[in-house]
Amino acid sequence: MNLIQIDIPQESHAVNDSPLKKGGLALFAIGLLIFLIGAFGSFENYSLFYSIGSLGLATFGALLFIFPSRNEGLPGIKNNGVFFRAASNRGAIAWITAVFLTAFYVVLYWFPEYFVHLIKSTDPISYAMTGKAANQWFLYGTLYTLSVLVMGVKMLFKYRHIRYQIIRTLSVMFFQLVFSFLIPHFLEALNQPEYYFSYFWPLKTSVLFPNDINWLLSKPGALPQFMVFWGVTMSLIGVPIFTYFFGKRWYCSFVCGCGGLAETMGDPYRQNSDKSLQAWKIERWMVHSVLLFITVTTGLLWANSYYQGALLGSLSQGFSKTYGFLIGAAFSGVIGVGFYPIMGSRVWCRFGCPQAAILGIFQKYFSRFRITTNGSQCISCGNCSTYCEMGIDVRSYAQRGENIVRASCVGCGVCSSVCPRGVLNLENGPVKGRVMK
Ligand code: SF4
Ligand code: SF4
Repeated sequence: MNLIQIDIPQESHAVNDSPLKKGGLALFAIGLLIFLIGAFGSFENYSLFYSIGSLGLATFGALLFIFPSRNEGLPGIKNNGVFFRAASNRGAIAWITAVFLTAFYVVLYWFPEYFVHLIKSTDPISYAMTGKAANQWFLYGTLYTLSVLVMGVKMLFKYRHIRYQIIRTLSVMFFQLVFSFLIPHFLEALNQPEYYFSYFWPLKTSVLFPNDINWLLSKPGALPQFMVFWGVTMSLIGVPIFTYFFGKRWYCSFVCGCGGLAETMGDPYRQNSDKSLQAWKIERWMVHSVLLFITVTTGLLWANSYYQGALLGSLSQGFSKTYGFLIGAAFSGVIGVGFYPIMGSRVWCRFGCPQAAILGIFQKYFSRFRITTNGSQCISCGNCSTYCEMGIDVRSYAQRGENIVRASCVGCGVCSSVCPRGVLNLENGPVKGRVMK
């Protein structure tokens, strides 16, 4: 009798026991501890050495911990017990993480007085960058950027076999660091408005709000005027044109800071997105309602401005404030990140982001982007559906050999990266002939 021997690569436990990983964890813990000692108000004065030293040590430790995974087992996503771990399958660790993140956001947004020392612990970095003391947003931006960078390195190792994933990850790391952190603080240091070049209406609502535009136009210098031009042009012209050529992915998977965090820090949770038809239905209702909300709000603000406040009085401002509280803070910040471990990494992008809604409408009806499927090769393993962070049942399209043209697809390409049969391809082609769902 002939026996065929199949070699199944095993995960190397040696990597988990790697001294580098242990050393990394130890350095991470020491750095975090020093940072927290300061954050609990133990020091009278905070030095740059303390801030950069503690955060730097924690970051270096995290990178050392990640480093051995650069050649850990086979490249790409492997199931490797992802549904058996409490952290990645909505178990106790996931719930603790979710509650901690949500509570952290609530305090940071609405009760920053309880974080006075935590905020002060980044004072030295803020003084060095902007000449001013840190506020809660500086602390938030610093931690956010560090998370994207560190977890971005993890993504780079994990998807090292896919060029698309490497470029995409480097892109979100670059845009977060340069466009969402360094440039705004550099402008602040020059006493310019703290402007974010990579956000457009309606994600950054003020880009088309009359008060903000008038305020910028009243400021001296060419930069504020350019910012008005840039924001308006990109919101109304740039977004549709780029989406026509590249689909939603040019923004959601390469530029946006929310997408950047979802694709890096949120990657371990991407399998938790709900794939049911019910969730798809709720998603469409919610995301388009938010888009309607901000469109009406912007219209009211312009109408009120045109009639110099005589039309609606302060009512339009009430809309603006309600939107800012419910959507800008509670949904995009608190729920958007706090619920990662339970609802997957794109809760905000999927159910709440009005920018995603607009991009999705263009993607569905006027874009060259689609995912093509070679149905005859599909073995129905379901990897693609499992790891679609937007809750798309990719497998059902693949089984029918249909192109995937979905408004919600952010073009992350992970479905294609994890398919063992090369069934899925992200492509640009003629708008005509696409099959739409
Ligand atoms: S369908 Fe594929 S490319 Fe689109 S969001 Fe899902 S995993 Fe990403
Ligand atoms: S398309 Fe690929 S990943 Fe998805 S079910 Fe088919 S073989 Fe599996």
